[in-house]
Amino acid sequence: MPRTIWITKRFDQCRQGTAYAATVLDPPPPDPGVPHLVVRGLRKTYGAPPVRALRGADLTVRAGEFVALMGPSGSGKSTLLHLVAGLDRADEGTVALAGVRTEELSSTRLARLRRRHVGLVFQFFHLIEHLSALENVALAALIAGARPAEATARARDLLDTLGLLDRAAERPGALSGGQRQRVAIARALANRPTLLLADEPTGALDSAGAAEVLDLFHRLHATGQTILMVTHSREVASGAQRIVRMRDGCVIDGGADGADDSGAERAEPVTAPSGPVWVDALTGRRTRIRRADPGDTAVVGSGP
Ligand code: ADP
Ligand code: MG
Repeated sequence: MPRTIWITKRFDQCRQGTAYAATVLDPPPPDPGVPHLVVRGLRKTYGAPPVRALRGADLTVRAGEFVALMGPSGSGKSTLLHLVAGLDRADEGTVALAGVRTEELSSTRLARLRRRHVGLVFQFFHLIEHLSALENVALAALIAGARPAEATARARDLLDTLGLLDRAAERPGALSGGQRQRVAIARALANRPTLLLADEPTGALDSAGAAEVLDLFHRLHATGQTILMVTHSREVASGAQRIVRMRDGCVIDGGADGADDSGAERAEPVTAPSGPVWVDALTGRRTRIRRADPGDTAVVGSGP
């Protein structure tokens, strides 16, 4: 018997009349052929009076893609990122992260999935001011489950890779904006995330700091890191592989990846990892994959 079958029928303002089905797998490792992120029909309304922040947003990000998400202020970009990161729950719609459907997970399992798969970078860094750069990054590795010695070694490696080892003992207050954001990016990479999410990561930086950070994103992308970055800046977005645009809570342009731009009639299976071993593109780490049972998969077609 399949563990989980998901069937949704929806009729929304963004793209009308689609039904989707997907597979739910026990976690990890993402197969390179599985989209790292599949968002379908995502809706979120806040408070009273109600603010409809998302009105049926769709987005696919494939392994190794660098996607820029643009749109006017208030169009729902941050809300979308929060829901993708599992920091909040959608009212309707689905998020599959590395092939794992999130909406029916318990809070504990969702937190575990987030720790395993998501790295988050914010506009205002959110570093812990009384910890050094090294401690900020090592703390994230500890939270992700590393032992203390491993966490410190990982933090040191990351700061080295990001050109910040000589600043490792400094507290955030002693660093430039660009350096602080690079520490925040190192922290976001501490768990070797499948998906790096960044919300206006250059928004609080001067042009030199922004260039530093952007250069780093390009280097990470070149190593195979999958990145979804919100930005207001056309210049920043032009460095990404693909630009996705939002307006009024909908993805209006570029939300499907190049291989799947078809729209309504396609059911979107999120398939099982197929090989026995998965190799992490960024770290080269090899992980044995449990082969999915054919009964785990259910594709139920599409319709209005
Ligand atoms: P963007 O990041 O594109 O500027 P947001 O996702 O932050 O847009 O916000 C989308 C809409 O939802 C806005 O109208 C915003 O005011 C509203 N909103 C966002 N977060 C909340 C919240 N926690 N409570 C109430 N309204 C919110
Ligand atoms: Mg925002």
